[in-house]
Amino acid sequence: MARTRTAAPARRSGPTPAPKPGPGRARLVAVKDQVHERLRFEIISFGLRPGERISESQLATRFGVGIASVRAVLPKLVQEGLIQNKRRLGHVIAPITVQEVRDICQLREMIEPQAAELAAARIDIARLEEIDARSKVHVPEGDRAAEMASVLANKEFHVAIAAASGNERLAAWVAQLQDYSIRFQYLLRHSLHHDWEHSHEPIIDAMRRRDPAAAREQMRAHLLTGREHLMKAILGLPTLRDVNIG
Ligand SMILES: [Zn+2]
Repeated sequence: MARTRTAAPARRSGPTPAPKPGPGRARLVAVKDQVHERLRFEIISFGLRPGERISESQLATRFGVGIASVRAVLPKLVQEGLIQNKRRLGHVIAPITVQEVRDICQLREMIEPQAAELAAARIDIARLEEIDARSKVHVPEGDRAAEMASVLANKEFHVAIAAASGNERLAAWVAQLQDYSIRFQYLLRHSLHHDWEHSHEPIIDAMRRRDPAAAREQMRAHLLTGREHLMKAILGLPTLRDVNIG
């Protein structure tokens, strides 16, 4: 991997900066962010399995932090669609269903080709190439952190294209769909060691030529191939039976 990368986007401070927060508060925020990142990593990389029940105390022990830090981050992960808050059961890792995979793939196929078409005339090619290079780094077998970095670079690639469309809501939608589908992307990355490398090249090529129709078509083709591989990964591979997919 070219460099170490944390998954969290840069956090913005509020509109009115608090007058010099004490070191205690700063440390609490830092712990919260760390717990969020670690828990998110465990869920996305299937260290915690879909459908698994989790408790605040169990997670606090697992991460070596206080219960308050765990309690503070759970709502965020619920919002990201990675955890569900079931009234009687408590918190569970959100299950993955075939229906959900289909729905998200379908939505992406509706909006991302359009985003690519709009982006073709204006996107910063050098930046797109730099992001893509990070998604293509060699990932040693079983290296979950490297797989995750590659998956996050893939997310960045798709969000960068949507952002270059000039439509901020479109970009926000694409980012949200990426968050919802990040575990599928991880599965794909995990099961596609060989095919992954060149998958973005035709899209970047269309962008280089500033060809909106080709960009649209190549994005569509990329997403359809992704969906095909994903369905195969989910329905076919025996190693994924452990993953508890509904
Ligand atoms: Zn992609």
